[in-house]
Amino acid sequence: MHKELKQFGKVKIEEPLSKHITMKVGGRAKYFVVVETIEKLKELLSFLDGRGVPHIMLGGGSNIIFSDNGFDGVVIVFKDTTCNVVDTEVEVFSGCSTVRMAKESMAAGLTGFEWGVGIPGTIGGALRGNAGAMGAEMKDTVDRVEVYRNGEVLEISNEECEFRYRDSAFKHNADIILRVWFTFAKVENEDVKKQAMEVLQYRIKTQPMGFPSSGSVFTNVQVKNLTSEIKNKEEIPKEFFEKGIIPTGWLIDSLGLKGIKIGGAQISEKHANFIVNVGEAKTQDILDLIELIKEKVYTIYGINLEEEIKIVY
Ligand SMILES: Cc1cc2nc3c(=O)[nH]c(=O)nc-3n(C[C@H](O)[C@H](O)[C@H](O)COP(=O)(O)OP(=O)(O)OC[C@H]3O[C@@H](n4cnc5c(N)ncnc54)[C@H](O)[C@@H]3O)c2cc1C
Repeated sequence: MHKELKQFGKVKIEEPLSKHITMKVGGRAKYFVVVETIEKLKELLSFLDGRGVPHIMLGGGSNIIFSDNGFDGVVIVFKDTTCNVVDTEVEVFSGCSTVRMAKESMAAGLTGFEWGVGIPGTIGGALRGNAGAMGAEMKDTVDRVEVYRNGEVLEISNEECEFRYRDSAFKHNADIILRVWFTFAKVENEDVKKQAMEVLQYRIKTQPMGFPSSGSVFTNVQVKNLTSEIKNKEEIPKEFFEKGIIPTGWLIDSLGLKGIKIGGAQISEKHANFIVNVGEAKTQDILDLIELIKEKVYTIYGINLEEEIKIVY
């Protein structure tokens, strides 16, 4: 297998995944392949599909954790970071970092992606999770997407991506995102730079920057999606119901869980929806904290939290 994989890119065997995940946890990947071009990526995917080999795409590793047992298959990293700006359209390969795309589009005097300057990871990962910040999200400006699906390469529209809050069709199918086209508006360059600075300053103020993390562990609670009655409703501020979103960080904080540690993992003191690796954490420590939070929130509020991060067992 090692020899065969080499035709597609650089191959590592038994690679520690913690080196490639922002949370710095997880076991080893049996095979870890870094692919440089879209052609090689398509060939690799069809090779693996043809042999039924389990595989998973890894972008910046900022929204994923792997089990301590690692991944018994092929972890694929796509390194093509091409980002072309033509007039108001940006064509970007899924391996490009979200920060780079934000900077390139701002430099070209385009507005609509300033929020991306604070998002770790790649465009592939951001599209899959419909990443967003400061009231904006991927959905707002994506025009179309090129995907690999069952041996074919297809172009699909924004509507076909079925974007919802931190969700898309890609979370529910096996499509591999190859390339994305965005459409933006033109604006005075200084305005977008100012906005981007504001985004960064806000993040520094509100997010734990010093320790490894995967960002928000759970999605915020969408009131309209709740299927059961909320318990102790009177304790939750009315304004959340008016806005239709209950911040999960608020729920966790209200239960006094900030700062709780299991092994090397801790519920952040700064932002309760972040779990941070404060020293040699295992994936199991994080999973145990996730369970503890879910159980407490369900017991007190009757709300089932949903993980935003992808957990690969
Ligand atoms: C400090 C910090 C702050 C964060 N703040 C935010 C925030 O404000 N808003 C927000 O939305 N998110 C935030 N995140 C989460 C994360 O940065 C985003 O979800 C990011 O877009 C994930 O991209 P990634 O490349 O790192 O994906 P990864 O973590 O590498 O992968 C995530 C998922 O996407 C899949 N994937 C990756 N590439 C492809 C591809 N080409 N085709 C198909 N599937 C693919 C993976 O298999 C995996 O299932 C934050 C994370 C951190 C660590």
